[in-house]
This record gives sequence, structure tokens and C-alpha cells, in this order.
Amino acid sequence: MDRYWEIFVNGYTGYARYMWHEITHPSWHNYFYWLIGVSLIFFVLEVVIPWRKNQPIPRKDFWLDAFYMFFNFFLFSLVIYNAASDVVVNLFNDAIKWLSGGFNLQAVNPLRTWPYWAVLLVGFVVRDFIQWWTHRLLHASEWLWQFHKVHHSVEQMGFAAHLRYHWMENVVYRTIEYIPLALLGIGLYDFFVIHIFALTWGHFNHANISVDGRVTGGIVGALIGIVLSQGLLDVQLFDGLTVAGQLGVWGVSVAAGVWLLGPFMKVLFNSPEMHIWHHSYDLPPDMPKGINFGLTLAIWDYLFGTAYVPWCGRDIRLGFPGVEQFPKDFVHQNLYGIWLQPKEEIRLTPNPLPLKASLKQPVHLPVDTTCEAPSDVQPQQTNPKEQSRSDVHQSVDSTI
Ligand SMILES: [Zn+2]
Ligand SMILES: [Zn+2]
Repeated sequence: MDRYWEIFVNGYTGYARYMWHEITHPSWHNYFYWLIGVSLIFFVLEVVIPWRKNQPIPRKDFWLDAFYMFFNFFLFSLVIYNAASDVVVNLFNDAIKWLSGGFNLQAVNPLRTWPYWAVLLVGFVVRDFIQWWTHRLLHASEWLWQFHKVHHSVEQMGFAAHLRYHWMENVVYRTIEYIPLALLGIGLYDFFVIHIFALTWGHFNHANISVDGRVTGGIVGALIGIVLSQGLLDVQLFDGLTVAGQLGVWGVSVAAGVWLLGPFMKVLFNSPEMHIWHHSYDLPPDMPKGINFGLTLAIWDYLFGTAYVPWCGRDIRLGFPGVEQFPKDFVHQNLYGIWLQPKEEIRLTPNPLPLKASLKQPVHLPVDTTCEAPSDVQPQQTNPKEQSRSDVHQSVDSTI
């Protein structure tokens, strides 16, 4: 027991040194400055190409969310990951050795011999899949939903809302994702690329912007192009290229992203148009435990039947029934569900959303950046029970 305590304490003191080093030594491998840099990019994008043009800058609760960003991403999430993970890994490995009579799990990990890019890709997909289920669990369990309400208390959406969540979520996510990731042999420092990519995409999902899939496809293509042309992450496909050759590889990769990935980006990856519905105050009557649970990837929602985008959701009401009485400040939000008794969720308005079962499949996401709904369609006032299936289809078609 003393040994685990020692590992735990070392994890924290090591992290304190690491954190101070991060702040005082800006570099490309630095979470602190990446968080600031990525946030600034989305701040500028929200000012230059806002989706909801009438949303104030800074929007409601922007500074609260800015504080949450540093608390959750830098102060709390990584520290838990760092300290707790060392303990969990040691406990887990010791338990397996004890149970199996000496079997060393990490020594036989097949990923140890894989190239780094493949380890990262597997790590990214596995982690996103685990997080998708964890997010579903946060909605399905009454107990966990009380914590997750903090994230859903956002009433005006913007990139910084990404990291507004209860500290318990750090504990839940890290605990659940940790063992599978540790089994894959992926630790905090290996994890840098995945973590920054997921951070950026999470900011994007919450940002007050709307861009065509060809733009995001091109960006993904450009990132892959950098890795391919520069031979990063153990990629040895194009070794010994001239500068012109490197530029050529990069250009082809961008073009492939735009033309090949572009049309499918909104089904492969999460987006502001999809995630805004996750934050909808109203839920479709046949999906009372939530919709669009995706973090970075959207495919899990399409595969498991939880994708729901009935029309352009730019201006829908956000929150949940009862958000009106939900605590508004950091301290009370973080005591919620622990010391503060949850209030009963009282719906103040009728639920106007159509049944998921009545939606046309596959769901078409709006690809225009204006999101102007025809004036004759007022989805907020439609009553799905009075509409026939084809009426609902028509109103969906005409608003997209
Ligand atoms: Zn949620
Ligand atoms: Zn969200």
C-alpha cells in the first residue's frame, strides 16, 4: 500500500514541477500554450465568421468557461491522469501478475512493435469510442447526469463551453478510459498529439462557426500531408524527397482531404451543426436520454442510431428542463450533485421536436454557412404528433 501511495504522491509532485516548467518554457510540446493558441484561433474565427451573428462577444458566461478551460484541461485533467494513472497502471499490472502467476501484460503488448503513427491512430479511435460510451453513460445514469448537467447548462454556445464540465467528469472519463489505454501502452506524453487534436476538434464542435465539410476535410488532409511529407511519427513512405517533392505530397494530401474526405466529413467527424443538437433544451420524444454523443468522431452516433439533426439547429434553445434554476457560478456548479441536492427538472415549454423515428435517413447536415430557414417553416411550433411522416420529411427538406 505504501508503494502505491508513494507513486501517487510522486505523480503529483512531479506534475507540479512539470506544470511550472510548461508555463515557463513555451515549446511545440507544451499543453499550456497549445490550449491558449487553439483557443485564440477559435476566438478570432467566432469574431470573423460567426454562425449566430447576433450572439454577443464575449457571449454569456464566456469568462466562466475560460476559467473552466484552464481548470479542467490543465490543472485538473492532466494532474489526475498523471498521478492516478501511475497508481492504476501499477495496481493493474501487479494484479495481473499475481492472478496469472507472473504474466507481464505490458511486455507482450503487440502495439509495442507498431510504427508510432499506427499506435496513435489506434489510440485515438479507441479513446474516442470509449469516450462516446462514457458520454452516453453520463446521460443514461441519473447519478452521473447530475454532474453532466454542468456541461449542459450552457445557454449561449461558443468554443470555450467545450471544457465547462464538473470535476467529477474528469474522474469518470479518466478512470474508464485509462485501463484500455494503459493496455495499449499509451501514456500522458505519448498522448500529446491525440490530446491536442481532440482538444481542437472539441473547441470546433462548440464554436459559433459553421464551415463546409470540404474545409475541415482539407484541414485534416493538410495535417496528414505534413506527417507524410516530413516523415513524422515513424512514417517512412516518402523518405529522401526534395523540397518540391515534399510540397507535392502535401498538396496531393490537401486535395484528397477536400475532394475525398470533404463530402463525408459531417458523417465521419462531429461538427457544430451536429453538436448543437446535443445541447438542445428539447429532446426527441423517442430519445429522452440524449442524442449526438460524439466527441471527435460522429460515426459512433450513425452506427448506433443516436444521430439526430432534424433541421439547422443554429438558433435552437439550449440547456435542459430545469436549467433556469441551475447554479450559475463555478463553486456551486462544482458542488452540484455532491453537496447540493439536484432540483426536479421542470419543463416550462412543450417539447416541439419530431420523433427520431420519423426522420429521413441518413440525416442531412446543413452545409451552407447562412442557415437561413424559409420563413414559412417554423419548426419550433410544429407538433410532430399532428404531422404525418411525409409532412415531417417535407419540413426537414425545406429547412436544410
Ligand atoms: Zn452530454
Ligand atoms: Zn458539448
